[in-house]
Formats: sequence, structure tokens, C-alpha cells
Amino acid sequence: MLKSADHDHQGPLTDAEVRRIRNDFPILDQDVNGKPLVYLDSGATSQKPVSVMEAEQEFYEQRNSAVHRGAHTLAVAATDVFEDARGTVARFIGAAENELVWTSNATAGLNLLAYSFGNASVGDVPAEARQFGVGPGDEVLVTEMEHHANLIPWQELCRRTGAVLRFIPVLEDGTLDMEAAAALFTARTRIFAFTHVSNVTGVINPVVELTRMAHDVDALVVLDACQSVPHLGLDVKALDVDFAVFSGHKMLAPTGIGAVYGRAGLLDAMPPFLTGGSMITTVTMDGAGYLPSPQRFEAGTQAISQAAALAAAVNYLQETGMERIHGWEAALGQRLVAGLEGIAGVRVLGPAAGVARAGLAAFEVDGVHAHDVGQFLDAAGIAVRVGHHCAQPLHRRLGLSASTRASTYLYNTTDEVDAFLAVVAGVRPYFGVTGA
Ligand code: PLP
Repeated sequence: MLKSADHDHQGPLTDAEVRRIRNDFPILDQDVNGKPLVYLDSGATSQKPVSVMEAEQEFYEQRNSAVHRGAHTLAVAATDVFEDARGTVARFIGAAENELVWTSNATAGLNLLAYSFGNASVGDVPAEARQFGVGPGDEVLVTEMEHHANLIPWQELCRRTGAVLRFIPVLEDGTLDMEAAAALFTARTRIFAFTHVSNVTGVINPVVELTRMAHDVDALVVLDACQSVPHLGLDVKALDVDFAVFSGHKMLAPTGIGAVYGRAGLLDAMPPFLTGGSMITTVTMDGAGYLPSPQRFEAGTQAISQAAALAAAVNYLQETGMERIHGWEAALGQRLVAGLEGIAGVRVLGPAAGVARAGLAAFEVDGVHAHDVGQFLDAAGIAVRVGHHCAQPLHRRLGLSASTRASTYLYNTTDEVDAFLAVVAGVRPYFGVTGA
């Protein structure tokens, strides 16, 4: 981890600092296929620093117990770890503790919301829950760039309730068609669910502007912050969204833990999704009363050690400095795009070099399938993602079925980006593809 003096340093991380950061990530120090590993797949999942792995191990060595239920000392200690972790993660995104619900990942969080809204749409619904209900004539609005995790749950909600799904189209450069968007927000729009950062193009959406448009028509706003919370350092109150979801494993934490942010008043009024133990006040043979948020949405035994490790990940990110991380990744993103644009036969998806984007780039190589590009890179020790990246509609819009994606994080160096670019430049010659 960087020393305290580094935290006062403004501006992006430096290459020297990133080299020191890499010492905290043992997995990066290995050869793959005889070459030093270049890990450019953090958009799928990030690597973990030693402090995160130690936090999980320490929990099992010292405090393992079920939370909230036991009167014994270990149970109290485990509950303290679990709830302290909630506080750490909540503060990281500008939320209060009772506004942060643990889930297993972002997909589970988006399904929690869609199913809770569904539960508010049918049957005998309490008065305070009706604000979440949708039915025939109502509209749920998404965008054409959504990850399937933020698309299919809404399709299913519409199928179950008779509401209609609409989407804001994407322009050729990967950005949202804001003119079309203006016409799509109507009095019928009840829910607007959209991604902060595209996991394919790296486009950073204008959250405040879009949220204002949604709130002007009294729609609830759900932000998929999977690709932003790990990289940008965001404040849910400043963005004014009603709900936000993210996954721990993309932000240095283990798999199995994620979170839903929801405004306290909204969460307490929303019907639960999963029901069972730990989320009730009283239970009779006829029915049950539910606890307020967050327990209301945390039925069953939770991912306790993973929550502790996510808090350790947040501490690591904060010690390094989110603005500095973002600055570094933005520079890597620009280096990726500028380099890829300079290689004959390579087309970058999304904004051109010089336009703001996240630290990732997806591209197609003319005449070579993305899977072949991925294997060629893997043979050189370079790990990237190939396929549709769970965004088939966006690929279809951009005229593709698959692409190759390189995505960076705080531990990637400029040398790694350059090594990646050099190997991409060799793809077409290797496969015998010629032409511009
Ligand atoms: N949303 C976006 C933008 C993503 O990039 C991802 C993962 O790639 C998800 C949602 C789903 O995250 P998870 O698989 O951790 O639930």
C-alpha cells in the first residue's frame, strides 16, 4: 500500500506508485504461457490485495459466528465486523448504514429491486408500497447499452405485470441518444434503470442529467454502478439516484458480496424480495411482519467474511485515493484507445481517443474473430475478455456479435498497455489478414 505522504499527492497515480501497488497483489507476479502475466480483465473481475485476503482469513481465524442472532461473545464480535463493514462501504458511496443492503453481487441486487417492485405490483399491496408497483400502461425505461443483468430483470418485471419496456438508443459513437431520451421520459415512465459506465465502450453516462429527467416525470432511478463504484469514487446523494447496485469482486473484494443502495425512506416502504429468517419482526401461521431496512432485505445467513473483506478493499481504495485511481485509469484508457486506433484494421467501440471514457477499450480486428484475438493475446500472457460481454443488444447495435475488451485497474502499468498494443499489432499479420 502507498505510504501516507502519497495521499497528499494530488493528480493521478504515477508509474512508480503503481509498481509499488503491484507488490500488494501476489497473483500478478507470475508467468503465463512463458510470459509475464498482463492482467487486462478487471472489468470482469479484479485481483485482490493481501490486506483483503487477510481480512477474510482473520474473520475465520478469530471471529467466525452467525450474526445478529447469538448472545455469545463471538456472535457479538462477528456482528460488529459485519455491521462495521456495512458502515465503511455505505460511507464510501455517501450513504447511511441503513441505506446499504448486502447482496451476493450486482445481478442479485438488480433482481432484488425488480422482484421487490414486482411484489408491489400484484395482490394486496400496503399503501406505502404502491409507489413501486407497475402495471399495464406503465413504462420501464432502460438503455440499449445495458449489461444483461440490468436488462433481463426488467424484461421479466414487464412480462409479469403488463408494463412496457422502452429503451434509450445508442448512437454510433456508443453514447446515448439524448434527444431520443428527452422524448422517452413521459408521465407513464415509472422506473428508469441505467448503467453509469458501459462495460463495453467505457462511455460514462451523464447521471445527474438523466436522473433529473427521470425525476421530472416522477420515475424511480436505478443506477447500475458496477463499473463506476470501483473506479470513480461516487456519491449517491450528489448523483441523486434512488437506488444503486454494485459488486465487490470488481473492486478488489472477494466474490459473493455486493450491495444495493436505496434511500432509507424508499427501502423501508418497499416489499421484500427474499423472505425467511433474520428479516422479520413477528411470525404467525398466517403471516409475518418485516424489519426495516437493511435487515428487511437480508433473509438467511449472509456473506459475513466477504463483507469484512469488502470493507478492507474499500479501505485499500480510499488509502490509495479514488481520484488518483480514476486519473490513472483514465490515462491508461486513452493510451489504449490511441494505440488501438493506430493499428490498421482495428476498430475501437465507443468514443474516439481524446474523449472521456473509463479505463477500458473493446475493439474488433477486421477479419479475425474475437476468440482468436483472445487466444493470440493469451499465448503472450495477456488476459482479456472476448465475446459479447453480456451486452448482446449493444453489440448488435454496433454491428457486431463479439469484441475483445482490455480493461485496466489501479495495478496496471503503461508498459503493460504498450505490451498489449504490440501484440494486437501482430494479430492480423499472424492470421494472414491484409488490407487497411
Ligand atoms: N452491470 C455491469 C455494467 C457489469 O459490468 C456487470 C459485470 O460484468 C454486471 C452488471 C453484473 O455484475 P455481477 O456479475 O458481479 O453480478
